Amino acid sequence: MAGKKHKIHLQRSNAIVWCPQDSPYSLYISLVDYQIFHKIGRTVHLHDYEDVQKSQRFTPRKLDRRTVSHLLEKEKDLEVLWFSPVDPKTNNNSFYGNVNFITDFVKFLSYCSQNSFNIYFVEVAEFKTCSATRFLFTRKRYDYLSEYDPRVFGGPWYTDPIGKHFWLQNIRRHDGKTNIKGHALEFLLEFGQDDAIWLYNQSIPMPVDHCDANTGKSRKCLKFGKTKTCPSPYKSMKTMELMSCQGFHETGYETSSLMPLSVNGKEITPREHESKNGVSANGEETPRKYESTNGVPEIPTTMNKVKRNLFKNF
Ligand SMILES: [Zn+2]
Repeated sequence: MAGKKHKIHLQRSNAIVWCPQDSPYSLYISLVDYQIFHKIGRTVHLHDYEDVQKSQRFTPRKLDRRTVSHLLEKEKDLEVLWFSPVDPKTNNNSFYGNVNFITDFVKFLSYCSQNSFNIYFVEVAEFKTCSATRFLFTRKRYDYLSEYDPRVFGGPWYTDPIGKHFWLQNIRRHDGKTNIKGHALEFLLEFGQDDAIWLYNQSIPMPVDHCDANTGKSRKCLKFGKTKTCPSPYKSMKTMELMSCQGFHETGYETSSLMPLSVNGKEITPREHESKNGVSANGEETPRKYESTNGVPEIPTTMNKVKRNLFKNF
Protein backbone atom coordinates (compact mmCIF):
# COMPACT_ATOMS: atom_id res chain seq x y z
CA MET A 1 0.00 0.00 0.00
CA ALA A 2 2.96 2.29 0.51
CA GLY A 3 3.34 2.84 -3.22
CA LYS A 4 -0.10 4.30 -3.87
CA LYS A 5 -0.23 7.83 -5.25
CA HIS A 6 -1.86 10.71 -3.47
CA LYS A 7 -2.33 14.45 -3.77
CA ILE A 8 -1.51 16.59 -0.76
CA HIS A 9 -3.75 19.66 -0.55
CA LEU A 10 -2.45 21.17 2.67
CA GLN A 11 0.44 20.57 5.00
CA ARG A 12 0.55 22.00 8.52
CA SER A 13 2.82 21.25 11.46
CA ASN A 14 0.15 19.06 13.01
CA ALA A 15 -1.83 17.82 10.01
CA ILE A 16 -1.80 16.84 6.36
CA VAL A 17 -4.86 17.06 4.13
CA TRP A 18 -4.76 14.78 1.13
CA CYS A 19 -6.73 12.72 -1.38
CA PRO A 20 -5.83 9.33 -2.83
CA GLN A 21 -5.11 9.86 -6.52
CA ASP A 22 -6.68 6.64 -7.74
CA SER A 23 -9.88 6.57 -5.66
CA PRO A 24 -11.08 6.73 -2.08
CA TYR A 25 -12.04 3.07 -2.35
CA SER A 26 -8.40 2.16 -1.92
CA LEU A 27 -8.15 3.44 1.64
CA TYR A 28 -8.90 0.22 3.51
CA ILE A 29 -6.19 -1.75 5.25
CA SER A 30 -8.18 -4.72 6.49
CA LEU A 31 -11.74 -6.03 6.28
CA VAL A 32 -11.90 -6.33 10.04
CA ASP A 33 -11.71 -2.56 10.33
CA TYR A 34 -15.28 -2.15 9.10
CA GLN A 35 -17.71 -1.43 11.93
CA ILE A 36 -21.45 -1.17 11.51
CA PHE A 37 -23.28 2.04 12.40
CA HIS A 38 -26.94 3.02 12.34
CA LYS A 39 -27.03 6.58 13.57
CA ILE A 40 -25.18 9.82 13.11
CA GLY A 41 -24.84 12.59 15.65
CA ARG A 42 -23.79 16.16 16.15
CA THR A 43 -22.40 17.01 19.59
CA VAL A 44 -22.54 20.55 20.94
CA HIS A 45 -21.86 22.35 24.20
CA LEU A 46 -24.70 23.00 26.59
CA HIS A 47 -24.96 26.69 25.66
CA ASP A 48 -25.17 25.79 21.96
CA TYR A 49 -27.79 23.18 22.78
CA GLU A 50 -29.89 25.92 24.38
CA ASP A 51 -29.58 28.04 21.23
CA VAL A 52 -30.66 25.12 19.06
CA GLN A 53 -33.65 24.46 21.29
CA LYS A 54 -34.68 28.11 21.17
CA SER A 55 -34.48 28.34 17.39
CA GLN A 56 -35.95 24.82 16.88
CA ARG A 57 -33.49 24.13 14.09
CA PHE A 58 -29.82 23.60 13.42
CA THR A 59 -27.86 26.54 12.07
CA PRO A 60 -25.14 25.73 9.52
CA ARG A 61 -21.93 27.70 10.07
CA LYS A 62 -18.92 28.67 8.01
CA LEU A 63 -15.88 26.49 8.51
CA ASP A 64 -13.89 27.55 11.56
CA ARG A 65 -10.61 29.20 10.52
CA ARG A 66 -8.78 26.61 12.60
CA THR A 67 -10.25 23.74 10.58
CA VAL A 68 -7.59 22.05 8.51
CA SER A 69 -9.45 21.59 5.23
CA HIS A 70 -8.79 22.48 1.64
CA LEU A 71 -12.42 23.64 1.37
CA LEU A 72 -11.61 26.58 3.62
CA GLU A 73 -9.75 28.44 0.89
CA LYS A 74 -11.92 27.32 -2.03
CA GLU A 75 -15.38 27.86 -0.57
CA LYS A 76 -15.36 30.96 1.60
CA ASP A 77 -19.15 31.11 1.81
CA LEU A 78 -19.73 27.43 2.48
CA GLU A 79 -21.89 26.88 5.57
CA VAL A 80 -22.26 23.38 6.95
CA LEU A 81 -23.40 21.22 9.83
CA TRP A 82 -20.94 18.58 11.03
CA PHE A 83 -22.20 15.07 11.82
CA SER A 84 -20.40 11.79 12.51
CA PRO A 85 -21.43 8.17 13.00
CA VAL A 86 -22.45 7.26 16.52
CA ASP A 87 -20.31 4.43 17.78
CA PRO A 88 -22.61 2.11 19.76
CA LYS A 89 -19.66 1.14 21.97
CA THR A 90 -18.34 4.58 22.91
CA ASN A 91 -21.16 7.05 22.37
CA ASN A 92 -21.26 8.23 25.96
CA ASN A 93 -18.38 10.68 25.92
CA SER A 94 -17.35 13.43 23.65
CA PHE A 95 -14.54 15.68 22.53
CA TYR A 96 -17.08 18.16 21.17
CA GLY A 97 -19.44 18.97 24.02
CA ASN A 98 -22.27 17.83 26.26
CA VAL A 99 -25.23 16.98 24.07
CA ASN A 100 -25.30 14.71 21.05
CA PHE A 101 -28.18 15.25 18.61
CA ILE A 102 -28.67 11.76 17.23
CA THR A 103 -30.37 10.96 13.92
CA ASP A 104 -31.19 7.72 12.16
CA PHE A 105 -28.79 7.41 9.24
CA VAL A 106 -31.09 5.49 6.91
CA LYS A 107 -33.80 8.09 7.31
CA PHE A 108 -31.23 10.82 6.75
CA LEU A 109 -30.04 9.22 3.51
CA SER A 110 -33.57 8.72 2.32
CA TYR A 111 -34.22 12.44 2.80
CA CYS A 112 -31.02 13.29 0.91
CA SER A 113 -31.97 11.07 -2.01
CA GLN A 114 -35.52 12.42 -2.20
CA ASN A 115 -34.10 15.93 -2.34
CA SER A 116 -31.42 15.18 -4.93
CA PHE A 117 -28.43 15.77 -2.74
CA ASN A 118 -24.98 15.02 -4.09
CA ILE A 119 -22.42 13.23 -1.95
CA TYR A 120 -18.80 14.23 -2.49
CA PHE A 121 -15.59 12.81 -1.15
CA VAL A 122 -13.75 15.86 0.15
CA GLU A 123 -10.44 14.81 1.71
CA VAL A 124 -8.56 12.86 4.33
CA ALA A 125 -7.44 15.01 7.26
CA GLU A 126 -4.48 13.24 8.80
CA PHE A 127 -3.22 14.14 12.26
CA LYS A 128 -0.32 12.78 14.31
CA THR A 129 -2.00 9.59 15.46
CA CYS A 130 -5.42 9.53 13.78
CA SER A 131 -7.23 10.65 10.67
CA ALA A 132 -10.69 11.68 9.47
CA THR A 133 -12.35 11.34 6.09
CA ARG A 134 -14.78 14.06 5.08
CA PHE A 135 -17.85 13.92 2.86
CA LEU A 136 -19.98 16.81 1.66
CA PHE A 137 -23.77 16.41 1.29
CA THR A 138 -25.10 19.22 -0.85
CA ARG A 139 -27.75 20.20 -3.37
CA LYS A 140 -25.07 22.12 -5.30
CA ARG A 141 -22.52 20.83 -7.75
CA TYR A 142 -18.81 20.92 -7.00
CA ASP A 143 -17.16 19.64 -10.12
CA TYR A 144 -13.66 19.62 -8.66
CA LEU A 145 -14.76 17.12 -5.99
CA SER A 146 -15.42 13.43 -6.70
CA GLU A 147 -18.89 12.00 -6.19
CA TYR A 148 -18.81 9.22 -3.66
CA ASP A 149 -20.63 5.92 -4.00
CA PRO A 150 -20.61 4.07 -0.66
CA ARG A 151 -21.66 0.83 -2.34
CA VAL A 152 -18.15 0.43 -3.70
CA PHE A 153 -16.13 -1.73 -1.37
CA GLY A 154 -12.92 -0.37 0.13
CA GLY A 155 -13.99 3.17 0.93
CA PRO A 156 -14.03 4.72 4.40
CA TRP A 157 -17.85 4.48 4.39
CA TYR A 158 -19.31 1.33 2.87
CA THR A 159 -22.92 0.24 2.31
CA ASP A 160 -23.39 -3.47 1.78
CA PRO A 161 -25.90 -5.00 -0.68
CA ILE A 162 -28.66 -5.18 1.94
CA GLY A 163 -28.21 -1.56 2.99
CA LYS A 164 -26.16 -1.83 6.17
CA HIS A 165 -23.64 0.92 6.74
CA PHE A 166 -20.07 0.53 7.90
CA TRP A 167 -17.14 2.79 8.55
CA LEU A 168 -13.49 1.93 8.67
CA GLN A 169 -11.96 2.12 12.13
CA ASN A 170 -8.61 2.55 10.46
CA ILE A 171 -7.38 3.60 7.01
CA ARG A 172 -3.99 3.81 5.43
CA ARG A 173 -2.13 7.06 5.87
CA HIS A 174 -0.70 8.99 2.91
CA ASP A 175 2.67 7.31 3.47
CA GLY A 176 1.10 3.85 3.56
CA LYS A 177 1.37 3.50 7.35
CA THR A 178 -1.57 3.01 9.72
CA ASN A 179 -3.14 5.29 12.32
CA ILE A 180 -2.34 4.58 15.95
CA LYS A 181 -5.66 5.98 17.18
CA GLY A 182 -7.90 5.10 14.30
CA HIS A 183 -10.09 6.85 11.77
CA ALA A 184 -13.34 8.82 11.90
CA LEU A 185 -15.95 9.80 9.33
CA GLU A 186 -17.06 13.41 9.16
CA PHE A 187 -20.18 14.42 7.23
CA LEU A 188 -20.43 18.06 6.22
CA LEU A 189 -24.04 18.95 5.46
CA GLU A 190 -24.67 21.98 3.31
CA PHE A 191 -28.26 22.29 4.45
CA GLY A 192 -30.72 25.10 3.79
CA GLN A 193 -33.19 26.33 6.36
CA ASP A 194 -35.91 23.78 5.60
CA ASP A 195 -33.35 20.96 5.60
CA ALA A 196 -31.99 22.14 8.94
CA ILE A 197 -35.49 22.23 10.43
CA TRP A 198 -36.23 18.75 9.12
CA LEU A 199 -32.99 17.40 10.57
CA TYR A 200 -33.63 19.01 13.94
CA ASN A 201 -37.08 17.43 14.04
CA GLN A 202 -35.54 14.02 13.35
CA SER A 203 -32.87 14.32 16.04
CA ILE A 204 -32.89 13.31 19.66
CA PRO A 205 -30.62 15.20 22.08
CA MET A 206 -28.70 12.84 24.33
CA PRO A 207 -26.40 13.94 27.17
CA VAL A 208 -22.83 12.65 26.97
CA ASP A 209 -19.89 12.78 29.37
CA HIS A 210 -17.72 15.84 29.00
CA CYS A 211 -16.35 15.96 32.54
CA ASP A 212 -12.67 15.82 31.57
CA ALA A 213 -12.91 18.92 29.39
CA ASN A 214 -10.70 21.10 31.61
CA THR A 215 -8.21 18.48 32.72
CA GLY A 216 -5.68 19.43 30.07
CA LYS A 217 -5.66 15.88 28.70
CA SER A 218 -5.65 15.54 24.93
CA ARG A 219 -8.90 15.24 22.95
CA LYS A 220 -11.22 16.12 25.84
CA CYS A 221 -12.67 19.43 24.60
CA LEU A 222 -11.99 20.68 21.10
CA LYS A 223 -13.15 24.24 21.69
CA PHE A 224 -11.88 25.03 25.17
CA GLY A 225 -9.60 22.17 26.19
CA LYS A 226 -6.30 23.90 25.45
CA THR A 227 -7.19 26.92 27.61
CA LYS A 228 -9.08 24.82 30.19
CA THR A 229 -12.01 27.22 29.95
CA CYS A 230 -14.84 24.88 29.01
CA PRO A 231 -18.00 26.33 30.61
CA SER A 232 -19.69 22.94 30.98
CA PRO A 233 -17.25 20.18 32.05
CA TYR A 234 -20.04 17.89 33.20
CA LYS A 235 -20.87 14.23 33.46
CA SER A 236 -23.84 13.14 31.37
CA MET A 237 -26.14 12.88 34.40
CA LYS A 238 -25.40 16.49 35.37
CA THR A 239 -26.10 17.58 31.80
CA MET A 240 -29.33 15.62 31.82
CA GLU A 241 -30.44 17.39 34.99
CA LEU A 242 -29.64 20.77 33.48
CA MET A 243 -31.46 19.89 30.28
CA SER A 244 -34.49 18.97 32.37
CA CYS A 245 -34.31 22.31 34.17
CA GLN A 246 -33.92 24.28 30.99
CA GLY A 247 -37.34 23.80 29.52
CA PHE A 248 -37.45 20.17 28.53
CA HIS A 249 -40.79 19.79 30.20
CA GLU A 250 -42.04 22.87 28.37
CA THR A 251 -41.26 21.17 25.10
CA GLY A 252 -42.85 17.92 26.16
CA TYR A 253 -39.83 15.76 26.94
CA GLU A 254 -39.89 13.12 29.55
CA THR A 255 -36.67 12.85 31.52
CA SER A 256 -36.66 9.08 31.13
CA SER A 257 -36.35 9.45 27.36
CA LEU A 258 -32.98 11.16 27.87
CA MET A 259 -31.27 8.31 29.62
CA PRO A 260 -28.05 7.57 27.72
CA LEU A 261 -28.66 3.85 27.99
CA SER A 262 -31.64 4.17 25.73
CA VAL A 263 -29.36 4.60 22.73
CA ASN A 264 -26.86 2.00 23.68
CA GLY A 265 -27.60 -0.55 21.03
CA LYS A 266 -31.34 -0.13 21.34
CA GLU A 267 -33.88 1.82 19.39
CA ILE A 268 -34.40 5.43 20.34
CA THR A 269 -37.65 7.33 20.10
CA PRO A 270 -37.97 10.81 18.62
CA ARG A 271 -39.55 13.62 20.57
CA GLU A 272 -43.28 13.39 20.86
CA HIS A 273 -43.91 17.11 20.99
CA GLU A 274 -43.04 17.55 17.36
CA SER A 275 -45.50 14.96 16.23
CA LYS A 276 -49.20 15.35 16.71
CA ASN A 277 -51.09 12.88 14.59
CA GLY A 278 -47.84 12.27 12.76
CA VAL A 279 -47.53 15.84 11.47
CA SER A 280 -44.94 18.30 12.73
CA ALA A 281 -45.32 22.02 13.29
CA ASN A 282 -43.99 22.76 9.82
CA GLY A 283 -46.48 20.43 8.20
CA GLU A 284 -44.07 17.60 7.47
CA GLU A 285 -44.88 14.10 8.35
CA THR A 286 -42.77 13.03 11.28
CA PRO A 287 -42.36 9.55 12.60
CA ARG A 288 -43.22 8.60 16.15
CA LYS A 289 -40.54 6.01 16.16
CA TYR A 290 -37.32 5.33 14.29
CA GLU A 291 -37.58 2.59 11.76
CA SER A 292 -35.64 -0.58 12.17
CA THR A 293 -32.07 -0.11 11.06
CA ASN A 294 -31.70 -3.54 9.59
CA GLY A 295 -34.07 -3.08 6.68
CA VAL A 296 -33.47 -1.53 3.30
CA PRO A 297 -35.05 1.91 3.11
CA GLU A 298 -37.58 2.81 0.50
CA ILE A 299 -36.29 3.80 -2.89
CA PRO A 300 -37.35 7.34 -3.74
CA THR A 301 -39.41 7.79 -6.86
CA THR A 302 -38.59 11.42 -7.66
CA MET A 303 -34.86 11.39 -7.96
CA ASN A 304 -32.95 12.19 -11.09
CA LYS A 305 -30.88 9.76 -13.09
CA VAL A 306 -27.65 10.32 -11.23
CA LYS A 307 -29.30 9.98 -7.86
CA ARG A 308 -31.21 6.91 -8.97
CA ASN A 309 -27.91 5.23 -9.60
CA LEU A 310 -26.16 6.56 -6.53
CA PHE A 311 -28.90 5.76 -4.08
CA LYS A 312 -30.05 2.53 -5.66
CA ASN A 313 -29.50 0.50 -2.54
CA PHE A 314 -30.57 3.04 0.07
ZN1 LIG B 1 -16.04 21.69 26.38
